[in-house]
Amino acid sequence: MNSTVVKKVVIAGGGTAGWLAAAALSHQLGPLLEITLIESDEIGTIGVGEATIPPIRTFHKLLQIDEQEFMRATAATFKLGIGFENWARIGDQYIHSFGRNGKPTWMCEFHNFWLRSRELGIESELGDYCFELQAAKHGKFATGPNVDINYAYHFDAGQYAKFLRRFSEGRGIRRVEGKIKEVRQNPESGFIESLVLQSGTEVAGDLFIDCTGFRGLLIEQTLHTGYEDWSHWLPCDSAAAMQTTLAGPAPPFTRSIAHDAGWRWCIPLQHRVGNGLVYSSQHISDDAAKAQLLAAVDGTPVNQPRVLRFQTGRRLKVWNKNVVALGLASGFIEPLESTSIHLMMIGVTRLMHLFPFNGVDEALAEEFNAQSRSEMEKTRDFVIMHYHVTEREDSTFWQHCRHMKIPDSLEHRIQLFRENAYAFQGDSELFRVDSWSQVLLGQRVSPKGYHHFARAMEAGELTRYLADFRQAISQTVARMPVHQDFVNQYCKAAQSVWN
Ligand SMILES: Cc1cc2nc3c(=O)[nH]c(=O)nc-3n(C[C@H](O)[C@H](O)[C@H](O)COP(=O)(O)OP(=O)(O)OC[C@H]3O[C@@H](n4cnc5c(N)ncnc54)[C@H](O)[C@@H]3O)c2cc1C
Repeated sequence: MNSTVVKKVVIAGGGTAGWLAAAALSHQLGPLLEITLIESDEIGTIGVGEATIPPIRTFHKLLQIDEQEFMRATAATFKLGIGFENWARIGDQYIHSFGRNGKPTWMCEFHNFWLRSRELGIESELGDYCFELQAAKHGKFATGPNVDINYAYHFDAGQYAKFLRRFSEGRGIRRVEGKIKEVRQNPESGFIESLVLQSGTEVAGDLFIDCTGFRGLLIEQTLHTGYEDWSHWLPCDSAAAMQTTLAGPAPPFTRSIAHDAGWRWCIPLQHRVGNGLVYSSQHISDDAAKAQLLAAVDGTPVNQPRVLRFQTGRRLKVWNKNVVALGLASGFIEPLESTSIHLMMIGVTRLMHLFPFNGVDEALAEEFNAQSRSEMEKTRDFVIMHYHVTEREDSTFWQHCRHMKIPDSLEHRIQLFRENAYAFQGDSELFRVDSWSQVLLGQRVSPKGYHHFARAMEAGELTRYLADFRQAISQTVARMPVHQDFVNQYCKAAQSVWN
């Protein structure tokens, strides 16, 4: 244990990760700490990362962020899930929504009743029993104290960082602009003591949070922590990103369209659409990927495609000595399920729970690393599943994904579902049973059996129950406003945010 009492916290990097860390620490622990954030205008931020998942709302509540204010400031729209196109077969479509399928019982999950209903000849989709999914499909949205709806946001990443900066500076964060050119370490312990900027300014600290993006200036370039590469399971290593004008009303979901060497995202904001093609550079060249993206997007390009490289995997220790890595510096699971911003939020929350007030303690760091690892691995498995559970053989990319060896943990889950329709949410696992069942069924995994508790309900009773359920959802959805109209009246951003 290093017995230096931790008082001075230095955050290196001012992208989404840096400003999220600054916002949470200043709000929750502000009076106990002296927090400095260093960011470099010359380097800038990566400028992508605009789709989120529902736990962001809990995080915002913790910080007492006003939803309408935040949405106006970031030109945000609502997100009820992700629409997947062409994943199992070309022409297929399904929505992985943030909602629940029907009502689970204590004995088994709702999808077992649905499987039974199909045996009885009742024609319906599992998604007919999910409110959020139906609202997404019909382009509807509403929120308020009397609406029970699970949702997240799409927002402008640059504006979000600015919003969090204003929030953090209002709570006493010191911001220093400049490029870090030297990292000074204690010659015996290897602990980091200070960061020296190009201007000569030296910023000393007790604990350093590395939010410097893929380069991992402290955690990797200085401490040489090491990285576990997952690209044999998640072969995409590049993205071409660009923005276009709106081509119609914003749908309340992200679109994810499979291509022959990856997939394309479409993220609708109030003033523009974020687009990108995520691809494997082993299977398509950068130029061909850019051309594919340009040919596929709706709307007029606002800028030209920009290529980004990444390596899917995790830092071997996200807390090493007196450095904790957050955001891209800590590892990266490609953006298919929009999990990175969530992992940053969980990471900074975990840090606040395990904060080394009495000095950097190896036991705290070990616990932090073990929890982070387990969470990353479970999230990774969920993302790999989308690629592996496919019937596509039309390109070498899809042949590879379909036939690759997957982690045993994921193999086990797919087997359980295929044989018995059994899906589960493990300890501290992000994705719920409904997520597993929506994606597995959406990608044509047809279970051979199901839980026979679903047979305990008499056929006529089950038929009536399901019909009532479907009707209640469709009537509620019919009464809801169109998503774009709701956004316009609830949180319309000022023109100045758009420019
Ligand atoms: C293609 C792609 C799409 C993504 N989409 C999503 C998504 O939809 N949803 C999601 O949740 N996540 C997504 N992510 C992941 C992640 O959320 C975003 O990329 C996020 O913006 C990364 O933020 P960051 O703060 O970790 O890194 P960065 O934005 O790279 O910020 C790094 C910061 O460190 C500073 N810095 C670096 N070096 C120095 C230095 N020497 N001196 C001073 N400052 C320095 C930079 O100036 C910058 O401020 C995506 C990632 C990629 C690659």
